Amino acid sequence: MSNGKIAVIGGGIIGCISAIEIKKKGFDVTVFDQSKIGHASSWASGGILFPLMPWDYLKKVYDLCKSSTNYYEQLSKDLIQKTGIDPQFQESDLTIIDPLNIGEIQKWCKQNNIETSINEATCKRKIILKKIFQIRPPRLMKALRKYMETLGINIIENKKIISFDANKCEITSCTTSDGKVFMAEAFLLSSGAWTSSILEEYRDNVFPIKGQMIQYPNTGLKLKNILYEDGFYLIPRRDGVLIAGSTLEKVGFNSQENIKNIDNLKRKAEKIIPELKTIKIAKSWHGFRPGTVDNIPITEKHKDYNNLFLNFGHHRYGVAMAPQSARIITDLISVDV
Ligand SMILES: Cc1cc2nc3c(=O)[nH]c(=O)nc-3n(C[C@H](O)[C@H](O)[C@H](O)COP(=O)(O)OP(=O)(O)OC[C@H]3O[C@@H](n4cnc5c(N)ncnc54)[C@H](O)[C@@H]3O)c2cc1C
Repeated sequence: MSNGKIAVIGGGIIGCISAIEIKKKGFDVTVFDQSKIGHASSWASGGILFPLMPWDYLKKVYDLCKSSTNYYEQLSKDLIQKTGIDPQFQESDLTIIDPLNIGEIQKWCKQNNIETSINEATCKRKIILKKIFQIRPPRLMKALRKYMETLGINIIENKKIISFDANKCEITSCTTSDGKVFMAEAFLLSSGAWTSSILEEYRDNVFPIKGQMIQYPNTGLKLKNILYEDGFYLIPRRDGVLIAGSTLEKVGFNSQENIKNIDNLKRKAEKIIPELKTIKIAKSWHGFRPGTVDNIPITEKHKDYNNLFLNFGHHRYGVAMAPQSARIITDLISVDV
């Protein structure tokens, strides 16, 4: 096994899962984050391990997501055992309310071995997709940080990488905003929505798409399934908490809460579950997705540098895509470094 030094720049779900897989191949891994590990888009995510609505996307979107269920099932066991933190991986199924294209959904599900059932008991028709899973991102990210430490991955937080130094086709080092130089055999850029601040050439391909979410306290409602209607979803957590989201806003890195959009999320939630009208939301938050035009990430070797690897632009489905993207990039690094 090689002991090459790998610098991973960005400790979101993509950087963390990649770092773990690279470390398991025997590399000496250091993860840098400009803030804290796992506190950006990945923390803000809903944690649904399925691309709502895969039949509307290019095939590659589902291809990148579909192995995530098995991966997270095993990872969750490891995380509970090694860190004591349960990331709450669980089966939730997905109920789509009043879909326009029920025939198309059934056909797609059949082709992809996803069992469905139809519920016509209420005035709105529903299609239920079985064996759809979720995980709870704030817990997942907290557990991953601890797990990386147990694996011997070096973690350097609150250090922004601002540039690379190169010698012909090789990156020789990266430099932090306080002027420290870090040398490594290979560099993996997993900097999410911030990628173009370090690689300007990706400005038009990867851009921040803000997503706001709201959370209801334990509602006492007995819900198991994720509910989806017209671009909006509700996710019941194990402790009765209910998450609702999300917005898609192209406003750069504007962190201000948009009250109008929060009210809109509440209205949509109450339309699906009228009981929520009397329940005050417990909190709201936002994250900046690494947006791409078609939800397809960039997971490859840089065209000009032999030891610079790219894994970013996972847009709406980075949690679900992380395991497969990490596998692809780890294979590339293992061959080249
Ligand atoms: C509201 C919302 C709901 C979502 N729901 C889902 C869902 O249900 N299912 C799903 O699969 N996906 C979901 N997503 C999408 C998913 O969260 C993202 O695709 C995923 O988190 C991207 O992971 P990442 O690691 O690339 O980015 P991030 O988690 O943003 O991590 C990037 C990290 O890089 C660091 N960084 C950036 N630049 C530098 C630098 N120069 N130096 C050092 N560190 C740097 C940042 O500090 C950050 O920690 C959702 C997103 C949002 C916002």
